[in-house]
Amino acid sequence: MPQFDVVVVGLGAMGSAALHQLARRGVRAIGIEQFTPGHDRGSSHGESRIIRLGYFEHPSYVPLLRRTYALWRELEAQSAAKLVHITGIAEIGPPDGEVVTGTLAASRLHGLPHEVMDAAECMRRFPAFKIPADYVGVFQPDGGFVAVEPAIAAMIAQAQACGAEIQTNIVVRSVTQQGNAVRVETSAGAIEARTAIVAAGPWLKRLTPALPAPLRVTRQVQAWFAPLDPAPFASSRFPVFLLESAHGVHYGFPPSGSGAVKIAKHHHRDETADPDRVDRAVTEADEALIRVALRDHIPAANGPLAAAKTCLYTVTPDRDFIIDRLPGAPNVFVASPCSGHGFKFAPAIGEILADLATGGGTGHDISRFRLSRFS
Ligand SMILES: Cc1cc2nc3c(=O)[nH]c(=O)nc-3n(C[C@H](O)[C@H](O)[C@H](O)COP(=O)(O)OP(=O)(O)OC[C@H]3O[C@@H](n4cnc5c(N)ncnc54)[C@H](O)[C@@H]3O)c2cc1C
Repeated sequence: MPQFDVVVVGLGAMGSAALHQLARRGVRAIGIEQFTPGHDRGSSHGESRIIRLGYFEHPSYVPLLRRTYALWRELEAQSAAKLVHITGIAEIGPPDGEVVTGTLAASRLHGLPHEVMDAAECMRRFPAFKIPADYVGVFQPDGGFVAVEPAIAAMIAQAQACGAEIQTNIVVRSVTQQGNAVRVETSAGAIEARTAIVAAGPWLKRLTPALPAPLRVTRQVQAWFAPLDPAPFASSRFPVFLLESAHGVHYGFPPSGSGAVKIAKHHHRDETADPDRVDRAVTEADEALIRVALRDHIPAANGPLAAAKTCLYTVTPDRDFIIDRLPGAPNVFVASPCSGHGFKFAPAIGEILADLATGGGTGHDISRFRLSRFS
């Protein structure tokens, strides 16, 4: 009999969530991580990730979002930690842009609370913004952010409290189907389990070379700016935001404890990166891609750079997630819920992965995440 029911490879957002959801069902589960959980070399670091209900990417994500909000709340109660900070979110841009039209479509279809503002009203409510007269703002009161590192720590602590085992600083070298089970070769020996979940983030393709999906890892930059004037960034006047402009889509968060405002460009650069060799130093050119939006649209944030960090997106061509069985290995499930927007879903994805690994199916609609769409 295999040592474990499920082995989870990778303890970033998705692996930690899957391990937690498995352990709370009493499943014998182990999680293996090549670094220390909460590290800054994958996709899950940098203080904050946006969470929102009216999803501009596609309205079909809304049911999963409702479930993820509920599971974050459960995790907060279990761990007595504040993980989700509701600030509201202002989504601003041209009325025919991807962000405004997408958010409105999802909000209207699902009857979500939202307010639509013209540019003048938007700048009155949120005085940090300077936007063209024809722009529109959509405010969703349910938006906010998840505290990244505390969220991962809470999921891992809860998984361990429910009996999960964890091995850190151990590299998984291969995951193979062996009869009706799986064998996982690691830098510290082999592990056998009934099923495996591979949630290796930017390393997924390396670990599952046969994965029939054109995944691309791209280098991103998150930057924190000391405001020139802190007044417009008071919490009542500056929610989480997404701003679509001639410079692309930028997003940001209310000031952190240091007073600095985190602002980044979604799909910062589109060049392909190798997660082990990527240049993690933030350059002036990186900073410039963010500063153009500050200069034109959030001038009071255009102060000295307080901090900056690189991070990685793992991107599919349609920017939808991958959650599926690995072809040719029926006991191996792969999860790549990224394309730059996966973190908020982590507990719900963990639930889906736990369903799949223990029962082979899930009640959640994951048709959008199937590998067959690439064939
Ligand atoms: C700059 C940036 C901003 C973002 N903003 C948002 C946002 O606002 N809202 C949102 O919802 N999402 C956002 N995202 C996306 C979100 O952060 C990701 O979807 C999510 O973090 C992906 O988690 P993951 O577990 O798949 O990957 P990761 O966190 O990278 O975890 C994979 C783990 O697997 C481990 N691993 C890999 N290979 C091995 C191996 N061989 N052996 C052992 N361990 C291994 C890695 O070390 C890593 O810890 C953003 C991402 C970035 C980079």
